[in-house]
Amino acid sequence: MLDIASLAALLEQPKKIVITTHHKPDGDALGSSLGLYNYLIQRGHHAKVITPTDYPQYFDWMPGNEEVIIYTDTVEQSNQLIAEAELIFCLDFNALGRINEMGEQVQNSGAYKIMIDHHLEPQDFDDYRYWNINACATAQLVYDFIATELNDKALVNKDVATCLYTGIMTDSGSFRLPNTTAAVHRVVADLIDAGAVNWRIHELVYDSATENRLRFLGHCLANKLVVLPEFNTAYISVTQDELKKYDINTGDTEGIVNYALSISGIKLAAFMVQRKDKVKLSLRSRGEFPANEICKKYFNGGGHRNAAGGASDEPLETVIEQFKALLPNYKTLLIQ
Ligand code: 5GP
Ligand code: MN
Repeated sequence: MLDIASLAALLEQPKKIVITTHHKPDGDALGSSLGLYNYLIQRGHHAKVITPTDYPQYFDWMPGNEEVIIYTDTVEQSNQLIAEAELIFCLDFNALGRINEMGEQVQNSGAYKIMIDHHLEPQDFDDYRYWNINACATAQLVYDFIATELNDKALVNKDVATCLYTGIMTDSGSFRLPNTTAAVHRVVADLIDAGAVNWRIHELVYDSATENRLRFLGHCLANKLVVLPEFNTAYISVTQDELKKYDINTGDTEGIVNYALSISGIKLAAFMVQRKDKVKLSLRSRGEFPANEICKKYFNGGGHRNAAGGASDEPLETVIEQFKALLPNYKTLLIQ
């Protein structure tokens, strides 16, 4: 294990650094990665962000995005960068399974592995861990890591601030989820002082829908929403044909599950979508209800108590039936 003093000492000289984050990166995954990237390059490091897969096109504007490489498109180059890296930062995930085939490469690399994350139950693959499940976003932890642990607040420039703001904004549900503490608002105030243009970032991420995406949302709400009042549960399921019909791309289904949760009294909401080879589930819950437990127990996944995900190799119809069948096990929690 490294301590912060040895890590800080390593960062005194230019290093070969890989920054990676989880499969299908969201705003926090990408925002924390690019925030750290924009910091490290100011210190003269040779840093590269490698994402395991592609990510939504509405993050393309982020500073440093043009330098990001996608593992599945650059396997040889990425493997070489990972093998030669002296440090690998693992952001917004804590189990190597979350980075697909890249996990083995990272595991086998001789680099020091630094985990910065806020998910439950970290796996033991790291040499230094900056981990706090109470942080609202990994981007918040990256800010604290730079400003407090490395004492480099002066290097939080407009680019760093813009990326970290994006991560905090997206993971805090635009500053409305319970994880949005006073401390989060203080960090965000610092980021705005450093040049993050809050209203513009929100516009770039949330007011960037295509007409198709909006019509697809309408279709989900009008035709696909199922409410089960006896379990205070609502779900939406989507087939591959529907994705094709509306030309739905990576990221376009993000947030749809929240509409199901926005019905008064609903404690558990699910969005289930048939992707090429598997069904992907997104669960959201209110209060004490453990959405992550359901994902872990039944759908090979995990996440936070109120926002979790998983996947299944079964067909969509089977997954829907499995989801409905598990609800009676949670009836007491759901109806109280
Ligand atoms: P989403 O529903 O937006 O895909 O994911 C919600 C939360 O659950 C995120 O914090 C994400 O990290 C976690 N999550 C989503 N899918 C998986 C999965 O397949 N495995 C695990 N362990 N966590 C997941
Ligand atoms: Mn996150």
